[in-house]
Amino acid sequence: MTPAHAAMLAALSGTIDPSAIVTDTADIAPWLDDWRGRYHGEAPALLQPATTAQVAAIVRAAGEHGVALVPQGGNTSMVGGATPPADGSALILSLRRMNRIRALDAGAGLAVAEAGVILQTLHEAALAAGRRFPLTLGARGSATVGGLVSTNAGGTQVLRFGTMRGLVAGLEVVLPDGLIHDGLAALKKDNRGYDLTQLLVGAEGTLGIVTAATLRLVPAIAARAVAWVGVKSPDAALRLLRLLERGTGLIEGFELLPAESLEAVIAHVAGARAPLSGAHAWHVLIEAATSDPAVDPAHVLEPLLADALARGLAQDAVVAASEAQADAFWRIRDSISASERAQGPATQHDISVPVDAMPRFMTDAAAACEARFPGTHASGFGHLGDGNVHFHVRAPAGADAARWYAEDAATVTAFVHDLVVAAGGSISAEHGIGQMKAAELERLSGPARMAALRAVKTAFDPQALFNPGKLVLAPRVAKP
Ligand code: FAD
Repeated sequence: MTPAHAAMLAALSGTIDPSAIVTDTADIAPWLDDWRGRYHGEAPALLQPATTAQVAAIVRAAGEHGVALVPQGGNTSMVGGATPPADGSALILSLRRMNRIRALDAGAGLAVAEAGVILQTLHEAALAAGRRFPLTLGARGSATVGGLVSTNAGGTQVLRFGTMRGLVAGLEVVLPDGLIHDGLAALKKDNRGYDLTQLLVGAEGTLGIVTAATLRLVPAIAARAVAWVGVKSPDAALRLLRLLERGTGLIEGFELLPAESLEAVIAHVAGARAPLSGAHAWHVLIEAATSDPAVDPAHVLEPLLADALARGLAQDAVVAASEAQADAFWRIRDSISASERAQGPATQHDISVPVDAMPRFMTDAAAACEARFPGTHASGFGHLGDGNVHFHVRAPAGADAARWYAEDAATVTAFVHDLVVAAGGSISAEHGIGQMKAAELERLSGPARMAALRAVKTAFDPQALFNPGKLVLAPRVAKP
């Protein structure tokens, strides 16, 4: 702990609830590593305020003493976004204790949730009120509202409901000078200049601390149909999606996975079984849902799938016969990341290209990677309908993980990113930049984008104390 840390904590101890200041290393340890196990940080203290006023007091004290803060929610970031720097210079600011749903207005379709509310808790609260918060993802049991807002999270229902950007109606934020911006009112029209809410969505904790969000709810699902389909290629999968979209407006989930992802889940998740009996090179998980009790989505989906089978777009298909079977299909999808992690060293790339270009990109990029790096295996899975897949390159069999990550992974990643940029795509579709991609963002962005990002960062956070080393690599500046 540096003298600046000690002085800041001493100043805070008279101001905020002592339980908000954690210095016991055993209590801090679980929050120092990222979910993928790629980054390890150090932090002499973890601060866990329970109110917005306490967050503001912490931020003011940090500014006064020149101490950096790393905001953290569920710590499920895929890009090391919530992991503190390795030099121990920053304190972790955990929002997990701010976990109240302050209001839920089913009629207006709005919920005001504090930053630490876990996504699954929000789902359950909305459902209890006859509503639904439609964004969902595999980490829903840990990911928090603050993290979801700050990463502009996507997930599996983006096709119909969009990313967090479209689901946030207002924000309460503590800015780096300690001022509280109360923008929670869900105004349909508001032209007071720059859109502060949208600037903070996806800012990865580099511009402000999100303390609460007003979130849009949609009508609860009355019925859903979940299908598993075998297809021969990503191109066939996309043509299947277009056929379904022409036939119905009910499709909200359309997830593509290669046979090897299914095999990885079956190998690593107890009780997981292949939904289809035959072998298929690619699989698609489809969800059609409606809030209209008079509509049976299975009756809508089945004839469309029969048509797809007849046209050769699908090789085999099954519609889940029960909710339990539907959940089992989704469990396969949600377990891919954890199962692939257990398969050994790999570089992961959360990328997007224009939707119609994705099937070709997946095939060409995999072939190019495997040719350029002999012994590797490249493949993608995920949100095909959003033009976003998680493109993974697995190290050659038997490769030493530590050596491969140290010597080869960055070259592989740069190669993949160059292909993405050449295809007009983005090196971060939904996970954000964090520390994993900050240097690549610099390398691959034009000067206009980087100048604008830096200008915004400097205007909000002139001392560069909010989440250093993430997103925009801004130099630390002493307090004037
Ligand atoms: P954290 O990991 O704690 O933080 C994420 C970022 O937000 C960090 O930069 C952090 O500093 C900042 N932050 C956190 N809270 C605040 C706050 N209150 N104020 C300001 N900044 C803050 N992501 C997707 O988009 N789609 C997916 O389908 C998806 N699937 C996943 C599946 C698994 C199994 C896992 C482990 C992760 C997945 N993710 C996915 C990534 C991750 O869940 C999301 O990025 C999520 O939004 C992070 O939420 P969190 O609360 O864990 O945030």
